[in-house]
Amino acid sequence: MGLEEYNTKRDFRKTREPEGKETPADEGMFVVQEHHASHLHYDFRLALDGVLKSWAVPKGVPEEPKVRRLAVQTEDHPPEYAAFEGSIPKGEYGAGEVRIWDRGTFDLKERGSDRLVFVLRGQRLNGAYALVRFKGKEKDSRNWLIMKL
Ligand code: MN
Repeated sequence: MGLEEYNTKRDFRKTREPEGKETPADEGMFVVQEHHASHLHYDFRLALDGVLKSWAVPKGVPEEPKVRRLAVQTEDHPPEYAAFEGSIPKGEYGAGEVRIWDRGTFDLKERGSDRLVFVLRGQRLNGAYALVRFKGKEKDSRNWLIMKL
């Protein structure tokens, strides 16, 4: 995916979010950002391929096994975004407050185009998790489920 969509959506003269570059430096890091946008959601991000692979999880990443939550894949974010907290101004993409809800490291156990398995080691989230893409008509659907195993 890369960062083109991320950079296109934002006006960096107006938002304090980082205008980022791809860097493999933080491989193995994850972050969850609580984002009070028009609808509260939690942005779950995994550092992979020099970017933060990102999903918006409306109801939050489950802390207990057997709970499945919708995770809508969003544009890749730059690795520096993992440190971002603050206010995105009104009128800008994703306007609202962003707070770091959890962060830590992960070990990737399985990676396919429709399925990721990883072990999280954060302050709140710990253990094995899976992200599984919906099997729909759309081959590249952005809708996934996240669950603790
Ligand atoms: Mn968001």
